[in-house]
Amino acid sequence: MACRDAREWHEEWQRRQVEADREASSAEAHRRAETERAEAHRCPLCQGRGYVGPRVCHHRPDQDAINARGLELVRAELVGARRNAVQGEEE
Ligand SMILES: [Zn+2]
Repeated sequence: MACRDAREWHEEWQRRQVEADREASSAEAHRRAETERAEAHRCPLCQGRGYVGPRVCHHRPDQDAINARGLELVRAELVGARRNAVQGEEE
């Protein structure tokens, strides 16, 4: 009997832990959402709407420049690779 009591107690304890975890994580999520909203409000890209045209805003005004630079590099790589491939075929 004592054994069963201990198990029930343990199950109850686990249930409470799960609930506590869930509450903590929802509070955390809530806090994060608040922070994101505050950042979005300051964002010059979307003015707090969260979207720039059809795209979801990342709220990082300098990110577009970084992305553009990255895209240029990738494009240059691709053009170079394609040129090499074409030359390889012609030979
Ligand atoms: Zn934004």
